[in-house]
Amino acid sequence: MNKVVAVIVAGGKGKRMSADISKQFIELKGKPILYYTLEKFLENKNIDKVVLVLPEDEIEYCRENILYKYNLNVWKIVSGGKERSDSVYYGLKSIEGDAEIVLIHDGARPFVSNEIIENGIKYAKLYGAAACGVTPKDTIKVIGENGFSKETPDRNTLFAVQTPQSFKHNLILKAHESVREKGTVVTDDTMVAELYGEKVFLYHGDYNNIKITTPEDLIIAENLI
Ligand code: C5P
Repeated sequence: MNKVVAVIVAGGKGKRMSADISKQFIELKGKPILYYTLEKFLENKNIDKVVLVLPEDEIEYCRENILYKYNLNVWKIVSGGKERSDSVYYGLKSIEGDAEIVLIHDGARPFVSNEIIENGIKYAKLYGAAACGVTPKDTIKVIGENGFSKETPDRNTLFAVQTPQSFKHNLILKAHESVREKGTVVTDDTMVAELYGEKVFLYHGDYNNIKITTPEDLIIAENLI
């Protein structure tokens, strides 16, 4: 059994980037975003295997232009789904019976550190479910009706969650199956675990661990590289 497996979800097209190619293939200092993300996990000695989830019609492109070109040895390539949660589920299903701990990570977050990865593994082993994140720098409002503010939650109780989100594989696979049966819409995997009745341990990530989403993020990312 491969004990610790990273599932990198890069199955989206990144429409908010408004670029000609999928955002994970956009280059930063001459190399694709996905290259940096994969390298972080492939080079971490605590990760046994890496699974990559891609849009079905981009698998060949990625194989040739990223994986072969940069000699990145992923264990499996899996076709993604319509929503992020579908892509995660297909990735998890592909390693059923073959992983103890799984780290689910966005392909569009190339600045993850070894410390964040290692803490994810540690806390998933201890608590079953863990995610990194940061305290929001801004005051966060709850929007009420007609664009007026409704309330202001205490900033000390808020946490902007990032990836990797790390779990006992059994737990998160069952949680996804339960959410899929009910048809609940989810935005990330901590939510999937919570809906299944699990508590998720939250630990400090890094403000640099950004998800590259819109064109402005590319400017920040070029500087962070
Ligand atoms: O769209 P968003 O930026 O929230 O996506 C986060 C990550 O999830 C990205 O790396 C994206 O490629 C991935 N994703 C996926 N399958 C989808 C949608 C998004 O793997 N259907």
